[in-house]
Amino acid sequence: MKSCDLLVIGCGIAGSSLALQLAKKGLHVIVLTSSKNPLESNSSWAQGGIAFSGQGDTPELFAKDIFEAGAGLCNPAAVELLASRGPRLVQEFLIDTLGITFEPTLTREAAHCMPRILHAKDTTGRAIAESMMAAMTAEPNIEILTQHTAIDLITLSHHSEQNSDIYLPSTCVGAYVFAEEAKLVKKIFAKETVLATGGLGEVYLHTSNPSEARGDGIAMAYRAGARIMNMEYVQFHPTTLYLPGKRRFLLSEALRGEGAQLLNSRLQPFMQSYHEKKELAPRDVVARAIFGEMLTSSSEHLWLDMTAKKPDWLKDRFPLLTSACRAHGFDLAHEPVPIVPAAHYSCGGVAVDLQGRTTIARLRAIGEVSCTGLHGANRLASTSLLEGLVWASAAAEELLSGWSQRSDYFPPVREWQMSDEKADSALLQQDWISIKQTMWNYVGLVRGKDRLQRALKMLRELQWEIDSFYEKAAISSELIGLRNGILTASLITQGAWRNKNSLGCHYRID
Ligand SMILES: Cc1cc2nc3c(=O)[nH]c(=O)nc-3n(C[C@H](O)[C@H](O)[C@H](O)COP(=O)(O)OP(=O)(O)OC[C@H]3O[C@@H](n4cnc5c(N)ncnc54)[C@H](O)[C@@H]3O)c2cc1C
Repeated sequence: MKSCDLLVIGCGIAGSSLALQLAKKGLHVIVLTSSKNPLESNSSWAQGGIAFSGQGDTPELFAKDIFEAGAGLCNPAAVELLASRGPRLVQEFLIDTLGITFEPTLTREAAHCMPRILHAKDTTGRAIAESMMAAMTAEPNIEILTQHTAIDLITLSHHSEQNSDIYLPSTCVGAYVFAEEAKLVKKIFAKETVLATGGLGEVYLHTSNPSEARGDGIAMAYRAGARIMNMEYVQFHPTTLYLPGKRRFLLSEALRGEGAQLLNSRLQPFMQSYHEKKELAPRDVVARAIFGEMLTSSSEHLWLDMTAKKPDWLKDRFPLLTSACRAHGFDLAHEPVPIVPAAHYSCGGVAVDLQGRTTIARLRAIGEVSCTGLHGANRLASTSLLEGLVWASAAAEELLSGWSQRSDYFPPVREWQMSDEKADSALLQQDWISIKQTMWNYVGLVRGKDRLQRALKMLRELQWEIDSFYEKAAISSELIGLRNGILTASLITQGAWRNKNSLGCHYRID
């Protein structure tokens, strides 16, 4: 058994910022990542940037843009917190404390009323993640455990061997964690456990996310009895590079912010027929416009044209994107490149308050795994890195203010029962394909009653199969992910089924 003050599950921007802030105050923090390379996360992949403060900007102007993108469903208190504290935190924590160097000029992204996006060319996420990782590695109070995948949260009501604990309020005391190299399950106890596991794009056939983004945190919280909300609001990014048979590569919104034009299958602009802001319309509008044009022309992709810009400027402003396109045989400077929409961001997740508290005591959720209500029915570009930063800081402040009174009750808990029956990899692979195709075809950009009904039925049957398979097979990171993937997919589908109103990125044709 291992114990600590704070167990942080995930080391993207949200988990890392919280760990750093609390470790600096003397708390012993354990940070887990399922990846071998701790830099592997959605945060590292962020290209466009992080919202900051433009010329003549105010929290009110910033908030107005967030509300408009969120289609009126945003939580006003969450919007106010981010708009008022976010830019200051970027300055104080990212620039002054961590010393991250950003470009001197701000850029503009879709649905922002002015240029207010701070960026490190097109590798902003990597610049932030590398600085945070360097700071964490140098911090003696932080223990980073790589290839350690949380399986389930340990709660008093589910796991305590002290019978009377079931009468206490629902409380989390740590997690069962699979150590991949040692092939064993550890119990890690913590005074406070924090889910910072990121998104869920991997449950879709086409996604901009890395493979760890399979909804692990949401599934763990759901099994532990936490409130989950707004799961139907999955944002699809309009432009990923169309690469048949390969993982999609995101072509940042910033390209359109800098003037890139969308072209239909006849290589003609079309966004003027869908929205007055054309290419800079909210993401859901752009993604559905592309999807609609693809359907009417029976095309597998459309085009993005950046050829109006000078090649040298393009190479300097978007070094990652120009080289990634070139690596796949496309020349961004001289020809339109093929694009398709892909699942990108989860606006819903584990319901939390302004300090990241979930409905379970001693359990918080921050970053993309959480639902603060900030994004409402759709997310404004470049606000998710900022959300991770703001909620990590708000949670850190609140935790520190009452730390000395925190409970350190760790009950006796049963050992994990290990099986040595190897999981059949053909079953694992086929189950993933079924989940991804079902979600893409029936719970994707455009949803309808019959499609959702079909998806619910298929996912229910598959979940039964996977759960019984999970009971018998030897534990592995893939199996943990599959069990979480099917549950997350079901939660999205149930949310989409229940909500008959089209709003933001949830669009029903019926
Ligand atoms: C291609 C791309 C571009 C983007 N561009 C931008 C942008 O320009 N601006 C912006 O604001 N946002 C952008 N986003 C969104 C943004 O990057 C994410 O929303 C944000 O980084 C999420 O941060 P996080 O800390 O919540 O999670 P992540 O950064 O995803 O980190 C999750 C962590 O949890 C770990 N983990 C997951 N499950 C487990 C488990 N069971 N056990 C242990 N560890 C686990 C992972 O290994 C990882 O360390 C982009 C996203 C993508 C995919």
